[in-house]
Amino acid sequence: MNMSDSERVRTIIETQTGYAWTDNEEEANMLGILACSVRQKAIDKVYSRIQKWNKWKHKKSLLTFISGCILADDMEKFLKLFDIVFRMSELEKLPEMIRQYGVVTPASLFTDLTAMPKNESINTFWKVTPHYSSGFEAFVPIQNGCDKFCTFCAVPYTRGREVSRPSGEILDEIANLVGQGYKSITLLGQNVNSYGHDKKGEEITFPQLLERIGEAGDNSGKEFWVYFTSPHPRDMTDEVIEVISRYKCLGKQIHLPIQSGDEKVLIRMNRKHTLEKYRDIIHTIRRLIPEATIFTDIIVGFTGETEEQFENTRKIMDEFRYNMAYIAQYSQRPGAVSSRWVDDVPTEVKKTRYHKLSNDLRRVSAANNRAMVGKIYRVLVTGHDRKAGYLSALTEGKIVTRFASENHDLIGNFVDLKITSSTDFSVEGEVITKT
Ligand code: SF4
Repeated sequence: MNMSDSERVRTIIETQTGYAWTDNEEEANMLGILACSVRQKAIDKVYSRIQKWNKWKHKKSLLTFISGCILADDMEKFLKLFDIVFRMSELEKLPEMIRQYGVVTPASLFTDLTAMPKNESINTFWKVTPHYSSGFEAFVPIQNGCDKFCTFCAVPYTRGREVSRPSGEILDEIANLVGQGYKSITLLGQNVNSYGHDKKGEEITFPQLLERIGEAGDNSGKEFWVYFTSPHPRDMTDEVIEVISRYKCLGKQIHLPIQSGDEKVLIRMNRKHTLEKYRDIIHTIRRLIPEATIFTDIIVGFTGETEEQFENTRKIMDEFRYNMAYIAQYSQRPGAVSSRWVDDVPTEVKKTRYHKLSNDLRRVSAANNRAMVGKIYRVLVTGHDRKAGYLSALTEGKIVTRFASENHDLIGNFVDLKITSSTDFSVEGEVITKT
């Protein structure tokens, strides 16, 4: 989300304040951060960065701001450190705050810091035309906030309740991107597949939105892939999967967070879905889109997680054969319900579980990648590879790929690769044709 948010912030600053963009932090007269309170590490980085910037203020004129997904507690602390603190839904007020250079955000904006964020102004935020940071890959917000209240997560308290962006705006933004030749478009939201639930009867549903994107995309004569992140298993219907299977432009990669492979842990996490429901979704994906890759998110060492419960999570790695899993060691977040519970899994145990599960993932992913060798895949070239003389690319299923080429004009374009070798988390290929 932060990438998409920052593209809109940049547009507002450049078009309404007269400031010009620089890649050089040291020469800037205004510096800002879009933060995320969801992880403590991210917040720690904010503190070290603002301390450095505040020292620079002795040497030059410098205005600092912060916004993003911020808990009320963090927000109060940041008010003392940054010149401007604003919620993303208040982006339209940023130019006025900047014009009051040196004046801390008016207290009236934060009269009740502990109240749930209000989402009315998010509609204004969505209308801002973003300054896309890539010429071929873009992120399009379709929904903001979350009504699920997982016990480990603070997002419902930082982003507020679910609000769907008008579908007309989403379809216009995508049509514009496709017209400009964008090749990879990701629909963004905390719960993309509960799209429309807050506007029942007034707005289309998530599968209907995907269908309209697929219909327009496949008839556009352009080649591109559309993804979405993140969906919630509770709202993942067969209809969504069926629509993805039907349209060429809908990317055959599904990121479906599971968080734990143990029923009791899922209940304590308040995930509101069972393993059986999750299993049914995976079976439907495999049946309707056999070529789809499946990614997930998993937390190890959640409060009260026993060895046996962790072993159940290891089993699902083998059962679902994930192509990628983002594994996190549980840490308490102030504001989340579980922060009031004892964090009783020792750090060393969390680390051990993390390494065990990462090795399971490595084994499963390596086998998936080996099965790609000898086959031809269409890939989107994304940039230079770390290995000299090579370019990096992603398959439609977002498997990291590289191939030997000095032709930098290929970046941002599709090529066909024959996969010649594989590693645990990537594959290598050679070019078959060029578009
Ligand atoms: S679904 Fe759960 S993890 Fe995802 S944003 Fe909502 S509360 Fe957080």
